Amino acid sequence: MRIEILCTGNELLDGSVVDANAPYFCGRAFARGAVVSHRLTLPDDLSALVSAMRAISQRADFAVVSGGLGPTIDDLTLEAAAQAAGVPLVEDPALLARLRERFARRGIAFTENNGRQARIPVGGEAVVNRFGTAPMVVFRIDRAEFHFLPGVPREFRGLCDEEVMPRLERRLAATANRVHRASRVLKCIGIGESHLDDLVKDLPARHPKVQVGFRTHAPENHLKLLAEGETDAEAQARLAAAEAQARSLLGTRVFGADQEELPAAALGSLRAAGATLALAESCTAGLCASLLASVPGASDALVFSAVVYQDRAKSILLGLDPSMIEREGAVSARVTRALAEAAREKAGATFGAAVTGWAGPGGGTAQDPVGTVYLCLTDGRTAVEERHRFGFDRDRVRTFAAYQVLDLVRRRAAPGAP
Ligand code: ATP
Ligand code: MG
Repeated sequence: MRIEILCTGNELLDGSVVDANAPYFCGRAFARGAVVSHRLTLPDDLSALVSAMRAISQRADFAVVSGGLGPTIDDLTLEAAAQAAGVPLVEDPALLARLRERFARRGIAFTENNGRQARIPVGGEAVVNRFGTAPMVVFRIDRAEFHFLPGVPREFRGLCDEEVMPRLERRLAATANRVHRASRVLKCIGIGESHLDDLVKDLPARHPKVQVGFRTHAPENHLKLLAEGETDAEAQARLAAAEAQARSLLGTRVFGADQEELPAAALGSLRAAGATLALAESCTAGLCASLLASVPGASDALVFSAVVYQDRAKSILLGLDPSMIEREGAVSARVTRALAEAAREKAGATFGAAVTGWAGPGGGTAQDPVGTVYLCLTDGRTAVEERHRFGFDRDRVRTFAAYQVLDLVRRRAAPGAP
């Protein structure tokens, strides 16, 4: 079965709006084992829309069109669909009554152009849109069943989940010789794409029915496994076998799968160990704490984060000896370790972690140029220290540093970690 999506709107082509709808639909379809073959974006141009719909109607089985269902003159989608099919648009009296009633209920004046939203191509079916005004329209043109959805992302998502996906599932279930797919994304941090590729290089030969892909989603690197089978059970079994091998090759480098995020994984390690954490953040200035606090219930484990930005803050808040900072430099292994130890002690926490670094563009030294970051995690007995180089972009250095801290916590705080 061939699936396509067409997104319409001048705003998608002049750079003012980022298309949110195609990725949403593609992701939802993919989660059901269906791969979208073609994704097209067009301006609000009647003849371009008509010819695209004609082409889709010849090659696709299932199509989604986003946008252009509104009441304004630039909303051309259904007119284009009618032209592509060679049928007129007609007013649907039930739809018109529903629109009038909706406006009346909200005390909004019904203008003539609002009536445009009640006109659908002959043979089309209007589906109630409980998320907004314009209905979804289902309309077959030749080979393709088209699903016309409003462009407003909230409405698009709602209708996609409630109306389009069940229809897609029914079509998939009825497809003979259908390929079943199952997928998993394994997420790692602090390991480049080529290193990841090298670690799992034996996977494709051992699992020929599983596609192996790589995706950098900085600062994360993802390994994507896509298994195919003649039945769902076969696809799932192939995926499970490949995933087990990938996990054993990657070990603790994998912090999570699919929707799992690093902050929750770090917090999960702390919770599982019944441990608490205090942070001292210099170059990340609270980013580590902010990421952790994005997870509900973070206060179970996160005691505080001290933003020790200036050198004297390291002394004022965490009691570091100013002469030591002067001697070692604020961005150094010694100072970072002293900060981690001081944070732990002050909080009475299980773990103390600290991060210092040169975020740039200024600063840096001959040994520690811009992009150098020091991390330390201590439990009072053992301190784990790391030094990284994250390049020259300020945002990148700060983000990578914060993720690295969280990953250090995730790996080291887990019960039974070395
Ligand atoms: P309306 O009744 O609001 O006119 P519509 O179905 O005609 O709905 P559009 O006019 O195309 O939809 O877009 C409505 C709003 O949704 C606009 O703000 C537009 O920028 C936004 N939008 C449209 N398509 C997309 C998309 N693919 N991704 C993100 N935003 C979009
Ligand atoms: Mg519109």
